[in-house]
Amino acid sequence: MNKLRETFLEELQDVYDAEQQLVKALPKMAKAAENDELREGFEEHLQQTEEHVSRLEQVFEQFGEKAKAKKCKAMQGLVKEGEELISDEAGDAALICAAQKVEHYEIASYGSLKSWASLLGEEEAAELLGQTLDEEKETDEKLTQMAESVVNVEDSGGEEQGRKAA
Ligand code: FE
Ligand code: FE
Repeated sequence: MNKLRETFLEELQDVYDAEQQLVKALPKMAKAAENDELREGFEEHLQQTEEHVSRLEQVFEQFGEKAKAKKCKAMQGLVKEGEELISDEAGDAALICAAQKVEHYEIASYGSLKSWASLLGEEEAAELLGQTLDEEKETDEKLTQMAESVVNVEDSGGEEQGRKAA
């Protein structure tokens, strides 16, 4: 079981860094969003993300380890792509896509971490990780719904929504 514990802790350090990167990135995403619902969604997920960071600290504690971050290169890449979309003014549809890539990455990490915590007999940690996993999945689903509505509003030129053409 030592190898699995080692693997678990490595992944925990990775996602701990990833979440901290997101705490910095989400306000930029919110600011760039044109659609109100999307902006509020990013703001809400920022609050959840801060909670994810503190849950991870609790998990470290349950494993008797000090919370430590290991640079998550994958999240750096995803965040960088998001920043490029913002500076290119790529629009809400592109922001939603970037955000979903982030959620899918997190879902993969938390899914494994939750399973491993159970295998290692750390049920409380598994439950905490499961709570975050569920929130990431919910966020992903909300983004899917917005991908349909927000994109339609943009592409319809706003006329169906009662907006006047410029
Ligand atoms: Fe998260
Ligand atoms: Fe997330």
